[in-house]
Amino acid sequence: MNKVDVIVIGAGPAGAVAACSLVHKKHSVLVIEKSQFPRFVIGESLLPQCMNTLDELGMLPFVREENYQTKVGAHFTCGEKITEIDFSHKSTAGPSKTWQVKRAEFDQDLVKAAEHFGAEVLWGTAVKSVDFFDDRVEVEVHDELGKAETVSCSFVMDASGYGRVLHKLLDLEQAACLADRKAIFAHFKNEQRDHDYQTTTIQIGINRHQKDVWYWGIPFPGNNVSVGVICPAEESGSDEAIFAKYISEEPALAKRLAKAESLFEVKSIQAYSASVKQLYGDRFVLLGNAGEFLDPVFSSGVTLAIESANSAATEVDKFLKNEKVDWQAWEAGYLKGVSVFKAFVEEWYSGDFQKILFHKKPHEEFKKHIISILAGYVWDPANPFNRDSKRKIKSLASVCDEF
Ligand code: FAD
Repeated sequence: MNKVDVIVIGAGPAGAVAACSLVHKKHSVLVIEKSQFPRFVIGESLLPQCMNTLDELGMLPFVREENYQTKVGAHFTCGEKITEIDFSHKSTAGPSKTWQVKRAEFDQDLVKAAEHFGAEVLWGTAVKSVDFFDDRVEVEVHDELGKAETVSCSFVMDASGYGRVLHKLLDLEQAACLADRKAIFAHFKNEQRDHDYQTTTIQIGINRHQKDVWYWGIPFPGNNVSVGVICPAEESGSDEAIFAKYISEEPALAKRLAKAESLFEVKSIQAYSASVKQLYGDRFVLLGNAGEFLDPVFSSGVTLAIESANSAATEVDKFLKNEKVDWQAWEAGYLKGVSVFKAFVEEWYSGDFQKILFHKKPHEEFKKHIISILAGYVWDPANPFNRDSKRKIKSLASVCDEF
């Protein structure tokens, strides 16, 4: 039986970052990935905050920048109302630009960096079971032909995303606090763009009749675009029909897609929010989507995945060196940032954050703090909106014009 220091389940952004961070710390790392890359994953719009970590870990030189679209902000609309968010106007120091990426390519770039620095990756191999012992963890894997093997490690990091391997095996499920919603999406080529913002920002449009229905437009190079609709999970009809109906209700988007060709049939994901009782336990930790996933509206998923992986890797390093590890403190620190996004997501759907967003005369200082959050800087202690976020959004909304 093979033995390594750490097994990472899944080679998405969380897995690649965890592996990269631990090989830099001189540990042996085996990443087990059930698919062959490149593989499709939804979630293409990054936040500037994650650039710091990718830079620190030496991963940026592996990112094929020319494949990706520079993103400098976000463009929100609701009918005639427009709000432009320019990340360079944030209150927190740090990068203010990032990319919108086709994840098939980007995730491959990140894992190549991890491999370059010494991580080993088993492709086309799924983790089937995980057994915990006092001195080790045994992980049973099956390759694409069904051949089974057991690998032993000192610590296992679950970055299996929607696969949620340990979540299921250890019964860690906890009801998600957000309502079930459905995402329907596709990639298109030859979209028609009339404005620069359609290239340099993510566009989020709110349906003018239903405030809990919204759209994203995520531009890629070469007039390719990812377009999605979020609607109530109970919406009836085929995905194609729901998608077409909602696009027709958003004239600006319908115009952009009028001559575009979809690159694949629409896909959908339902009830995508997830939560767990605990993100860690004896010899394991859950990263990124394998732990918590909120909602796509603020494009926080990959950034949270990267932060959880990098910060957890620091704790795993201590564990492997027999130093004291305070997993509770790690979890509380990480979840502090998650709870900021959670408050903003809840207040997006309650309508209160939308009131603030489209307010005609925003308070300049508050706006900078809110831009910092939208850029992913949710752990900045100097930002008052990163503490008691929900109450602050509610009280600010109460003084904004009626939306
Ligand atoms: P993943 O990227 O899902 O990677 C997990 C990997 O684990 C996969 O490669 C999978 O094959 C592998 N795996 C699964 N099971 C096993 C197993 N048993 N054995 C071995 N390997 C396994 N985030 C953003 O940042 N920006 C966005 O614009 C955005 N939009 C989104 C839109 C929608 C509709 C949804 C639902 C999500 C969106 N997200 C977005 C979230 C984003 O997709 C995730 O947060 C992100 O992919 C999490 O990365 P990860 O590394 O945790 O998991």
